[in-house]
Amino acid sequence: MRIIVCIKQVPASLDVRVDPKTHNLIREGVESVINPFDENAIEAALELKAKHGASVSLLSMGPPQVREALRKGLAMGADDAYLLCDRALAGADTLATSYTLAQAIRKMGSFDLILCGRHAVDADTGQVGPELAERLNLPQITYVSKIEITGNKVRAERLLEESREVVEAPLPALLTVTKELNTPRYPTALGIMKAAKKPLTVWTAADIGATPEKIGLTGSPTRVTDVFEPPGHRRSEVEMLSGKPEEIAAALAERLQAAKIL
Ligand SMILES: Cc1cc2nc3c(=O)[nH]c(=O)nc-3n(C[C@H](O)[C@H](O)[C@H](O)COP(=O)(O)OP(=O)(O)OC[C@H]3O[C@@H](n4cnc5c(N)ncnc54)[C@H](O)[C@@H]3O)c2cc1C
Repeated sequence: MRIIVCIKQVPASLDVRVDPKTHNLIREGVESVINPFDENAIEAALELKAKHGASVSLLSMGPPQVREALRKGLAMGADDAYLLCDRALAGADTLATSYTLAQAIRKMGSFDLILCGRHAVDADTGQVGPELAERLNLPQITYVSKIEITGNKVRAERLLEESREVVEAPLPALLTVTKELNTPRYPTALGIMKAAKKPLTVWTAADIGATPEKIGLTGSPTRVTDVFEPPGHRRSEVEMLSGKPEEIAAALAERLQAAKIL
């Protein structure tokens, strides 16, 4: 079985600023991490690998620093990674992103399962997974909180607002996963050392045979015309407590009592 996990690198803090002219996130100087739901997707792939035997390939589109995110995924236990990195891919909306990822997946060869996060925590559309499934003509199951593979079928539990739904689909299929699925593992020291030697392939737009009109800003009909905090929006304030553990506990209890939570 081969599993492909699509991962996006996102800012570590959601306290990021937006460029008032381009309306893009200002990523310079902001620490980046793997989109949290994509870590759940990697964990799910590794658990399926342990249970059924599989190879796990990671795929990401983004700037050169995305290598770090891919190396972390390799350190967690993925087998190889692919980075789509080209200035021509910059500024992609979800339509252009799903086109580009689909082109790369076609080049990567046969697979049984594609896992994506339910959404990326920075732009938050949740569209890339479903669009990718449509482009590759695959059955898709979204908001997955449990996965079972039996023979050539995937059986997944979907997390709905007030209930759970169990859905089956033939493989190959695409699933978008929730954090309820699992708890992602931390890479071990040995995993980090092994990751340095695992294959990480970098492809340009030409390498995946992408049509220039369908990628990056040119291939993106969406324009973010404005991004702003609603009037009256207040960022929550954080108070850091310090001291000995018993002092911190007493101070915390005092705050909770004052807020009538205790
Ligand atoms: C403030 C802001 C608002 C935006 N609004 C829109 C908008 O309304 N419509 C629009 O089309 N675009 C929008 N964009 C652009 C959007 O960030 C990108 O188009 C995008 O590439 C992916 O969309 P997403 O982050 O919402 O991904 P989602 O669809 O939320 O991501 C779901 C999953 O898809 C996979 N995935 C997503 N991106 C990648 C990637 N680069 N590489 C590998 N896997 C990936 C991951 O598994 C991820 O968990 C916006 C960008 C910004 C900064």
